[in-house]
Amino acid sequence: MQSIKQRKKVVYSPGLTELPPLPMDVPGLKEGFRHHYTCHLGRDKYCRSPRYYYKALAFTIRERLMERWNNTRYAYLDADCKHGYYLSLEFLMGRALGNALLNLGITDEASRALLELGLKLEDLSAEEIDAGLGNGGLGRLAACFLDSCATLELPVMGYGIRYEYGMFRQRIVDGRQVEEPDHWLRDGNPWEVERPEYTQRISFGGRCESFRTESGETSYRWADTRDVLAVPYDIPIPGYRNGTVNTLRLWKAAATDVFDLDEFNAGSYTESVATKNEAENITMVLYPNDASENGKALRLRQQYFLASASLQDVVARWKAHKEDFADFAEKNCFQLNDTHPSCAVPELMRILMDENGLGWDEAWGITTRTMAYTNHTLLPEALERWPLPMFQQLLPRSLEIVLEINARFLKEVAKRWPGDSDRLRRMSIIEEGEPQQVRMAYLAIVGSFSVNGVAALHSHLLSEGLFRDFYEFWPEKFNNKTNGVTPRRWLAWCNPGLNRLITDTIGNGWVADLGRIRELAPYADDPAFRERWHSVKQENKARLASLVEAKCGVTFNTESLFDVQVKRIHEYKRQLLNVLHVIHLYDRIKRGDTAGWTNRCVLIAGKAAPGYYMAKLIIKLVNNVAKVVNDDPDVGDLLKVAFLPNYRVTAMEYICPGTDLSEQISTAGKEASGTGNMKFMMNGALTIGTLDGANIEILEEVGEENFFRFGLTAQEVEQLRPNYYPHAVIASDPDLARVIWLLQSGHFSMFETGIFDPIVQAITSPRDPWMVAADFRSYVEAQKRVAAAYHDREGWTRKSIINSAYSGKFSTDRTIAEYNEGIWHLDRVKAERGSQEEDAAEHHLEERERSFG
Ligand SMILES: *Cc1c(COP(=O)(O)O)cnc(C)c1O
Repeated sequence: MQSIKQRKKVVYSPGLTELPPLPMDVPGLKEGFRHHYTCHLGRDKYCRSPRYYYKALAFTIRERLMERWNNTRYAYLDADCKHGYYLSLEFLMGRALGNALLNLGITDEASRALLELGLKLEDLSAEEIDAGLGNGGLGRLAACFLDSCATLELPVMGYGIRYEYGMFRQRIVDGRQVEEPDHWLRDGNPWEVERPEYTQRISFGGRCESFRTESGETSYRWADTRDVLAVPYDIPIPGYRNGTVNTLRLWKAAATDVFDLDEFNAGSYTESVATKNEAENITMVLYPNDASENGKALRLRQQYFLASASLQDVVARWKAHKEDFADFAEKNCFQLNDTHPSCAVPELMRILMDENGLGWDEAWGITTRTMAYTNHTLLPEALERWPLPMFQQLLPRSLEIVLEINARFLKEVAKRWPGDSDRLRRMSIIEEGEPQQVRMAYLAIVGSFSVNGVAALHSHLLSEGLFRDFYEFWPEKFNNKTNGVTPRRWLAWCNPGLNRLITDTIGNGWVADLGRIRELAPYADDPAFRERWHSVKQENKARLASLVEAKCGVTFNTESLFDVQVKRIHEYKRQLLNVLHVIHLYDRIKRGDTAGWTNRCVLIAGKAAPGYYMAKLIIKLVNNVAKVVNDDPDVGDLLKVAFLPNYRVTAMEYICPGTDLSEQISTAGKEASGTGNMKFMMNGALTIGTLDGANIEILEEVGEENFFRFGLTAQEVEQLRPNYYPHAVIASDPDLARVIWLLQSGHFSMFETGIFDPIVQAITSPRDPWMVAADFRSYVEAQKRVAAAYHDREGWTRKSIINSAYSGKFSTDRTIAEYNEGIWHLDRVKAERGSQEEDAAEHHLEERERSFG
C-alpha cells in the first residue's frame, strides 16, 4: 500500500494550494474586510446595510480559518492518527463570529479594524442568526464538545444534519407561545463550505435478498430501494489559539436525479419532480421535542440518513488509504449522542458485511469496538422505540441485522442465566406487544463497548434502575462522564467585563485551563476585589435589564435580586414551582408581610414543544401572573416578573452574566445533568437547587454555605411516591393553600375562566409525577435564605466569587479529557501554529500537559 505522503505527492501539484499566511493585524483585517465588501459581495459606499458589513467580516475571518483548517487536515493525515466522530441529530451552535474571533485571538484587532472603518463589532455581531440546530442541553453539549475537542487538539469530527429550518422562533401573543419557522439559511451561511465531491447515496425501503457468492457463501442484497443523496456541508471548528480547526460535517438530503427517466418517459413529469421534494423533506426541519420521542417515520428517516451518510463517509475515507479493515477499530471511534443515531450499529454491520464482504464475527468485533453510547435521560417518555412494521418497511436490511444481533445476544444472556425467561423478555432488543417495538437504547447498549451517563447521580441511577439488567451482564461497559460547558463562549466571550477582571487578577491561563480559575478564591476576602466584582455584575445586570425592557416592556431595577430560570419548559424542570413561589411573594406583599423584604426580579424563559399542552399552559400562566404582579401599584419594585420570548444560545449569552440567582429546581432524579446550571455558576450566580443531576457536583465543589439546597432527594421522592397526598400537604401549609386558592379563584385568569384548572389538577393529583407540592415548603424556606443572604451585599459577592472560582470542574475541557482517557484513546495532534497562536501556546502548554497529558 502506498504511504499517505507518497500519495499526496502524486495527487497534488506542488504549489497548487500554497499561499502566504494571511495577516492577523489591524491593517490586514481592514484590507480583508474592504476586499470582501467590494470585490466579493459587490457592495459600495452607498449600501449601508449592516448585513453586508457582517458578511464582509465573516468572510474575512473565514479565510483565516480556512488556512488553519487545511493545515489541521494535513497534520491528521501525516500522523495517520485515530479519529473520533461525534454523531448527533442536534448541534445547537448559536453564533459563530465572536467565537471564531476569540479562538483566533483577534477580537481586539477586529474591533479596532472596524472602528477605523467607522463600524462597531457588536453591531455586526448582532446581525448573525443563531444556528439553532438543536432543542436544548443535548444539542448545546454537542456544540461545547466540539469547541473543547479542537482546543485539546483531538482529531474529532462532528456529524449532524443541516436542517433547512432549525428550532422554531417563539413569539408571545396574549401570553401564549406562537411558533414561527426559523429559516436561518435565507441569507446564506458564510460559515459553511459545500463539498458535493463527498456526496453519499442513502437507501430506503425495498426488500432484502440473499444469494450465493462465487465462493458458495450466503450474502445479502438490499434491492428495489428508493435512494436519496446526502450532500455534506462543512463548518470550521477552531480551537482556542492553537492553530487547530476541526470539522463539523452536516448532511443535506437531495434527490438522486431531478428527473427520474422512467417516470419522465411515462409522462409523469410532475410526479418525478414531486419525488425530489420527498427526498429533500428528510432534512427540512428539526423535530422540536426535547426529552420526548415522537414516533414519526420522517424522524426515523432522519436518524438513518445521518448514521448511514456519516459511516459511509468514514469508510470511504478509510478505503482511500487502507487495503483492509484489520485495524479499523484501532483507528476509529463513534460517540452516539443519545439513541438518536443508534441506527449506526446495524448500519456499520451492513456496510462491512454487504458492501465489503466481511463475515458476521469480524464485522461485529469491529462494530462493538468502535461504538460508544451516551444516555441523556431517565424519563420513560424519552426512550425511543420504533414500531417494528415501520422499521421493516423503511429499513428492511437494518431490521434483519437487528434481529440477528438480538438472537445472538439473547443466546449469551440465556447461557449466563439459564431458564430465566423473564430476564430474556426484559432484555430483548425487541419489545413484545401489538405491534412489536425496537428498543433503540438496548440496541445501542448491545452494540457499544461503552455506555455513559452525564452526571454522577444519573449514571448511578442508570446502572441501578433503567439499565440494571445490562449492568449486571456487562458492568465494565458502564461509566460516568459529567457534562460541562466551554469556558470560551460561556465566560470569556459572553462576559467581557468579568473576563477582564479575572485576567487582570490571575492572568489568562484560565481560558484554556479552567481549573486555574481557583486562583480567584483568595480574592473573595479582598474588599477592593469584591467591589470590582460587584460592579461588573451590576453592569451585566444593566445590560440584561435593557434586554428585558426592550423585549418584555418590564422594568428591572438593577438593585433588586435577579432571579432567573431559563431552560426548555417541561413539567420535570418545575417552572410551576417557581411560579407558585412568585404567587406566594405576591400574596405576602398584598397581606403587607414585607418586613425585611428583598426586592426581586424574576425572569423566566424557554420554549415549549409545540404539541406539549401543559408546557404551553405554564407559559401562559407565567405571563398572566407577570401581568397581574407588574400592573399592581401595591407591588412596585418589591417584585417584577417577566417572560423573555425566544430563548436561545444568544439570549443565554446575555442572561447568565447578569444573573444573581440560578434556578435549578427539577424533581430529584429527573434532570440527567443540566448545563445551564454550570453557565450560571461560572458567571458568578448562586444556585438554588435540588439534589439532582450535576447540581450535586456543583454543591460538592462550592460547599453548603455557597449553595441554596432544598427539596427531597431522588431516593426520598421514590419512597414518598406511593404515599403522596398533595391535598394533605396543602391543607397543612396555609401559604400553599392561599397560593392554590389564588389560582383556583381566577385571580390570574380574570377574563379566561378556568384556563388554569388543569394546572391546579396536576399539582393536587396524588399521581403528580413531579411532586410540585411536596417541595413547596422547603423551596420557600430556601428562598428566604436567599433573600436574607442578598441583603448582605459583601457576603453575597463573596459567595459569587467562590462560585466562579470553583467552577473549574465544569469545563467541557475536563469532560472531553475524560471521554478521551476512558473511551476514545485519541492522541493529541498539533497543527502548525501561526504567529497569533504562538504566544497563547507558550502560556498554557505546560499547564495543559500536566492536566490532560
Ligand atoms: C445551556 C442551554 C440549555 C440547557 O439548559 P438546562 O438548564 O441545562 O436545561 C438549553 N438551551 C440553551 C439555549 C442553552 O444555552
